[in-house]
Order: sequence, then structure tokens, then C-alpha cells
Amino acid sequence: MRLVHTIEEMREQSRAARAKAGHLALVPTMGALHQGHLSLVRAAGARASAVAVSIFVNPTQFAPGEDFAVYPRTLAADLKALEAEGVELVFAPSVDEMYASNNLTWVVVEGLSERLCGASRPGHFRGVSTVVLKLLHIITPDSAFFGQKDALQVAIIRRMVRDLNLATTIEVCPIVRDPDGLALSSRNRYLTPEDRQSALVLSRSLAQAEKLFKGGERRSDRLIQAAKQAFAREPRARLDYFEIVDLDTIEPVPTITQPVLIAVAAFLGRTRLIDNLILTP
Ligand code: AMP
Repeated sequence: MRLVHTIEEMREQSRAARAKAGHLALVPTMGALHQGHLSLVRAAGARASAVAVSIFVNPTQFAPGEDFAVYPRTLAADLKALEAEGVELVFAPSVDEMYASNNLTWVVVEGLSERLCGASRPGHFRGVSTVVLKLLHIITPDSAFFGQKDALQVAIIRRMVRDLNLATTIEVCPIVRDPDGLALSSRNRYLTPEDRQSALVLSRSLAQAEKLFKGGERRSDRLIQAAKQAFAREPRARLDYFEIVDLDTIEPVPTITQPVLIAVAAFLGRTRLIDNLILTP
């Protein structure tokens, strides 16, 4: 496994890996790796003969006052885990390497970037789409692997790839959860034991909506009401949104007649967590 810090070397190494392996897959991450990330690495390894993983805590997707400065950085442990997975290349650039100080160019997927988390985190998805485009441009992978955990990110990246005619195939992997249902997240380590327990309301609210849906309920407002009741019983958790939206446009869907995304975000103390599931009639 080779650890690369500069764009120039990553271009060279990616080109060589691609020529040798025939198919290079990329897994973009912010590090602090857990089994969710490693599931993407394994899926990438099953698809490609060479896997590259990027580890970059991207400052432009954090708003002032968010957790950029304290975001967990665990490079040594991450490298060990990736080595054990047989990863070929790890790209861990510095902020200065990735962004010129007078950066003026941004990628915005209009319309989608302001939905769901984009509404409560203005500018977040501009940072995400910009850094993903930069990584795809530097590494030129044949495929790139993302988690369904960040459902709007998936919709935005897919749309960017389509609109900008990028050659990389986007692959999406299911959400990995702890046995009690909590979706794995690098931010779970911020939670106190009490908040960790209360955080189960995210997956529970989704499960309640799904149960109603499986019982035949197709009105989104009724599913949303049930989810809000679950949150009302869990006062440590502050609901940010619970929405039922179209998978591609991310527009609210009042009556479920086609597959939809149910997405939830909530705060436990200062920690913001997200979760989602897809319902198919
Ligand atoms: P992050 O390091 O949080 O930027 O995440 C890097 C990638 O891992 C993204 O594509 C996430 O969607 C994915 N990911 C994060 N958590 C999970 C999870 N619990 N299950 C599956 N994929 C995940």
C-alpha cells in the first residue's frame, strides 16, 4: 500500500495503477474509518483490481462553528485498517495541497444542494461536490464508491457526473449499522452514553414509518406524524428534519406511488446525525 500526500504523485500513481490493474476504484472518505467505510472498500475491491482511498477532512464542506477543527483524525489506525483490506493507494493531502488560498471555482448542483441537509447546512454540498470533482479529476477512477448513508450526497454526485459527462461510474453501498440499529458514523464517537442511547430514535422513527407503510399507509404526512411522535418521546434528541422525498429530485412526495427516500436528521447535544431508508411500494 502506498501513502501519497501530493496531487502530482497521486496523478502518477493512479495512472500507473489503472494501467496495471485495468480498473481503479476510488473510495472518498474523511477518515476516522469504521465498518461503514470498510464496507465500501470491500465492495470496491470486489469490483476493481486496484482500490484507492482518499482521506481528507474537507474544510469547504464545514460551516463556521461546525466541527472541522475537532473532527476525528486517526490516520495511523486508518492506514492499518486499509492495509489489512489490501488497498493499493491512500491519498491523504493537506488542505494547502487541495485548495489554493485564493480558490474561486466551485461546483454547485443547483436545486439539489439546498434540500434536506443542504437547508440546515448552507454551502455544505458546494464543498462536497467541489472536492469530489477534484478527487475524480486527480485520480480518474473507473468507479467511485459512496454510502447510501449520505443519500443526498449520492443524488448530487450522480447528477454532477451526469451533467458534467464524467467517465467514472458511481456505485452506492447499503448503510452499515450497529446491532441496535444506529447507523455507523465517524461522529458517533462524540456521543455520551445517554446521547448514544437516545440516538436510536433516528432508526426507530424510520422503522415506525416503514411499519405504517408496510401496513398500507401511503400518505407521507401520516408517516411523518408517526416519526415526530417517536421524537416527542425522546427529548434529548432535537429533530432537524424528517422528510419523504423523490429519490432523484429530492422533492417532497405527498403520496407514495413510486420508490421514495425517507430521510431524518437530528441533534444529540451538538452532534448532528443522519439516517435514511428507501421505501418501495
Ligand atoms: P465520510 O468519511 O463520513 O465522508 O464518509 C465517506 C463515505 O463513507 C461516504 O460515501 C459515506 O456515505 C460512507 N459511509 C459513512 N457511514 C456509512 C455507513 N454507516 N454505512 C455505509 N457507508 C457509510
